[in-house]
Amino acid sequence: MSGVGAVTLVGGGPGSLDLLTVGGLDALRRAEVVLYDRLAPHDRLQELAPDAVLVDVGKRPGHHAVAQHEIERMLVEHALDGSRVVRLKGGDSYVLGRGGEEVLACRAAGVPVRVIPGVTSATAVPAAAGIPLTHRGVSHLFTVVSGHAPLTDDEHRHLAGLGGTIVLLMGVATLPGLVAGLVRHGLDADTPVAAIERGFSPQQRTTVSTLAGIVVDAATAGVSSPAVIVIGEVVRLAADGDDAAAQTLSSAGLLAPSMEAQP
Ligand code: SAH
Repeated sequence: MSGVGAVTLVGGGPGSLDLLTVGGLDALRRAEVVLYDRLAPHDRLQELAPDAVLVDVGKRPGHHAVAQHEIERMLVEHALDGSRVVRLKGGDSYVLGRGGEEVLACRAAGVPVRVIPGVTSATAVPAAAGIPLTHRGVSHLFTVVSGHAPLTDDEHRHLAGLGGTIVLLMGVATLPGLVAGLVRHGLDADTPVAAIERGFSPQQRTTVSTLAGIVVDAATAGVSSPAVIVIGEVVRLAADGDDAAAQTLSSAGLLAPSMEAQP
């Protein structure tokens, strides 16, 4: 048998090539097979990975994604065939990215595997809208939540009680349940909320509202996936960092002149 190849999980960042790491670029340049997702930066993949066979395993509207166990099987198979395989994912592989499962599958098959971290959309997409997740005197913690499945009532209670910033991924469909749970457990209905769709694309758009208003406002605006939703007082700070965001905040009546930058 010829030598076993290897698998490199590359966190591709939130979609802009600017946010792919130097290590990620290097792995792509040397790749012989690339399995990539829809949210990974893939527009210029042929150029970035000139010697590689490119395999799209991501979800597209109307088409099924390749099942997770099938992706794992493909990674292992190509590596056992001797190939240098890159698994290119959106954001960071270890943030709601199933990277851990793929690493375990490689290890179980005796395939060498390494992980190159990426810039996660959880922090980068709010930043693209001018929203810092922490800010001295406003919030000193943030929690990243998956909206893929509804949270339990206990989780809603703990989240509402934490008092920090909440960052919701994959949460457009389950937003009404989360909002209801947070309000039920005492989070102020005036808490500002921002939904940032398609971050780093020319179609990036931010919809700003409050906990009480976001479900109706998001439906009216037609907010759709992919979007990162930020819940917390930090949303008001966008006004100081981003002109477009300031305008949105002002038209939503969410500008807080009293909230000045802390020393
Ligand atoms: N591992 C990824 C997250 C995968 S879950 C990461 O670290 O970023 C997929 C979710 O990420 C989407 O439903 C959306 O909530 C968010 N997302 C990823 N890229 C995005 C983008 N460019 N704009 C808005 N949301 C994005």
